[in-house]
Formats: sequence, structure tokens, C-alpha cells
Amino acid sequence: MKIFEALANTPERREIRDAIRALCDRFDDTYWAKKDRGHEFPHEFAKAVADDGWLGIAMPVEFGGSGLGVTEAAIMMQEIGHSAGAFAACSAVHINIFGLHAIVKHGSSRQRAAWLPSIVDGSSRACFGVTEPDAGLDTSKIKTRAVRDGDHYIVNGQKVWTSTAQQADKIVLLARTTPIEECRRPIDGLSLFYADLDRSAVEIREIEKMGRHAVNSNQLFFDNFKMPADCLIGEEGKGFRYILDSLNPERILNAAEVVGMGRRALEKATAYANERVVFGRKIGQNQSIQHPLAECWSELYAAELMTLHAAELYDSGKPCGAQANAAKYLAADAGFHACDRAVRTHGGMGYAADYHVERYFREMVAVQLAPVSREMILCFIAENELGLPKSY
Ligand SMILES: Cc1cc2nc3c(=O)[nH]c(=O)nc-3n(C[C@H](O)[C@H](O)[C@H](O)COP(=O)(O)OP(=O)(O)OC[C@H]3O[C@@H](n4cnc5c(N)ncnc54)[C@H](O)[C@@H]3O)c2cc1C
Repeated sequence: MKIFEALANTPERREIRDAIRALCDRFDDTYWAKKDRGHEFPHEFAKAVADDGWLGIAMPVEFGGSGLGVTEAAIMMQEIGHSAGAFAACSAVHINIFGLHAIVKHGSSRQRAAWLPSIVDGSSRACFGVTEPDAGLDTSKIKTRAVRDGDHYIVNGQKVWTSTAQQADKIVLLARTTPIEECRRPIDGLSLFYADLDRSAVEIREIEKMGRHAVNSNQLFFDNFKMPADCLIGEEGKGFRYILDSLNPERILNAAEVVGMGRRALEKATAYANERVVFGRKIGQNQSIQHPLAECWSELYAAELMTLHAAELYDSGKPCGAQANAAKYLAADAGFHACDRAVRTHGGMGYAADYHVERYFREMVAVQLAPVSREMILCFIAENELGLPKSY
């Protein structure tokens, strides 16, 4: 199959892509299928990414990072998504790559010096505690409370879906510090913290889910969880705004991952269509097989270009909210179609674990839902680009 790699369009970008591809090639489908079956975190893969210095690709140089842009990070994540590890591989390292952006931007120099180097070298792992069972996508309604008590905050409440919490020693935590009724706007009064994940005061329960079994997601129960007041990032009450700052790069990286995943599924489908013979000819000779695959190629290419465009806008300091959201939307749909088609092209074997496309498909379902659903993206574009009334 002819490759399309619009993202890697300079020698430096090609170098990143080739190096990540070589690293990922050390972890094949057999490795990832075993991790998925065993619900085992891919420590070897995460360590390899850290050891080769890639976790700091978009982190400031002074903290051990490479100081490159979201475009370069997107190329890296697209290549990881394109590997046999698909979404599980991306999720194993994703938070270290960009999850601490709020600290880079709003943390004090002491906090940045204390917290960022260990995220860059991989000796520390952070999880991201935002979603709550009763709030869903309406983050302003989260109920977890952090109450100041002298030099500390005491946290009580619950989070859900917190990924990698089984391995994490740190948590980026969004909690309410001022009751919503006392705030001018619902998004006020939320604060962002970075704290040690002290298991004596946080119960962590893994959620049984459809796929991406190698990377856990969890329910977290905070029971008088005590953290030093210096865990607060930036100003109290501005946590939601800090999270908004990192939403666009988050969407861009996620879109790049999904384009990579979709492309891998498409390559598997194409290879199978070229070798499987039924009724005396390759199944790929049937237009009912080849046209949907050609559609997937086109959709993935378009999503990749949109992702690149959004990344370059972001890196040049221009507004990119609509483009980042559209990239995530297009990539999630293109990736889903590609995985669905990969399963169908394999016929019954698409349902067999040995061919791996069912694993990619299960992982791709999550991308339709998280970190933001397609519905909320459409709400954002309708309101901000089309000038239609806010609907949520
Ligand atoms: C595999 C996985 C990993 C995750 N990892 C993390 C993590 O590490 N940290 C974390 O904090 N969260 C994580 N999440 C949570 C994820 O971000 C949320 O699931 C997501 O934000 C959706 O929230 P919800 O599930 O509560 O859906 P809900 O808010 O309950 O929404 C349900 C459905 O209703 C639709 N809907 C709701 N309101 C509207 C409206 N006004 N208009 C149109 N449609 C609407 C939504 O689009 C959605 O389809 C993860 C989720 C998954 C599946």
C-alpha cells in the first residue's frame, strides 16, 4: 500500500517518525495481544519510550525535554498509534507527553523544577482525575471537594475512568474549592492540583471494560485525602481554565493517535484482501471489498491533513479550537470506519484474536467516547463556528 505520511514532511519530522517506528517495531502484535489478554501494563514498552528520551518531546529543555512543538509530538503519537500497540500503547505514555501542560504553563518555578524532570525521564507516572460519575461531560458539576486546612487541603469525593491509576504515583486532580452556589459562574471555584497518589486515603478500583485491557481505567474514592497546600497549581478557583488551555493540543494528539490506529487497521485489511482467495480470486478484486478500503484511505488522509493543520496553527500561536476539534472528530470517525472495515474484510477471521483487528476495533470504540464525545465536538463547532445557540 502506498504510504501517506503528510505529518512527517521535513527531515527532522521524518527522523522522529523513523526512530519511533523502529522503537515500536520491537513490540509486535504478539506482545500486545498478550498484554491485552493478561490485563498487564506494558512496562517494557513505556520504559523503552522513556529510555530513548521521547517522553519529553514537548517539554521545556530546562527540565530535560526536547522543547519541540505539538506537531512533532503528534508525529510521534501517530506513529505509536500506528504500531501493534494501537491505543493501549498511546495510553501508556500519553499523559507523560502532554498531561502536565498546566504545570508547564501555570506552575511556579519551584513546582516545575520539582515535578517535570521525573515525568520526562519516566521515573514518575501521573494519572488524570477529572471525570466524575455524576457530572459526566459537564465538568463544572464535579463534586469532589478540596478544603483548605492550614498548610494542607483535605479532599473527599470520587473520580471515574482515571486511566493508569494502578501504576501512577502522581495525580493531576481537579476539585471544587468554592461551592458552586458561591461562584459567579459554574466553571469558577474549581482548582487544579498535582499530588502524590497516597493509596492509604484513596481507594482505587479497576473498571472492567471492552478493550485496551493493557491500560487500566479506575474508580477513585478519596477519603480525607491530605495534600500539602503547595500542590495547588496556579491560582485557586482557576483550575477549569487551566484545563481548557490544554484541550486543543490534547485533541490534536488524540487525533494523530487515531489516524495511526486507523492506518494500521487499513494495512492489515489490505494485506488480507490481497492474499485471501475465495471463488477462485483474491477477495480484494471485489469492489465491495476494495471501495470501502479506498474510502477509509481517503478519510484517514483527510483527517491526517486536518490534524497537521491544527497542530501547525497551535505551534504558531494561532487560534485552533475549531480545527483541533474537527481533527479529533474526523479522525475518530475515519479510524472507526477503518477498524470496522478491517474486521469485515477478514470475514470470520476478523472476529478471531489471532488476526488482531478485533483488538484494534475494541480499542477504537473508546475513541468515539473519550476524551470528548463527537456530540460535544459538534456542539462546539455549531456554537463557535456557525454562530448557532449554545445547546448544552
Ligand atoms: C477508555 C477511557 C479512558 C478514560 N480515561 C480518563 C482519564 O484518564 N481521566 C479522566 O478524567 N477521564 C477519563 N475518561 C472519561 C472520559 O473523558 C468521559 O467518559 C467522557 O468525557 C464522557 O463523559 P461520560 O462518560 O460521563 O458521558 P456523559 O457526559 O454521561 O454523556 C453520555 C452521552 O451523552 C452525550 N451528551 C451529553 N450531554 C449532551 C448534550 N448536551 N448534547 C449532546 N450530547 C450530549 C455525550 O456526547 C455522550 O454520548 C476515560 C473514558 C474512557 C472510556
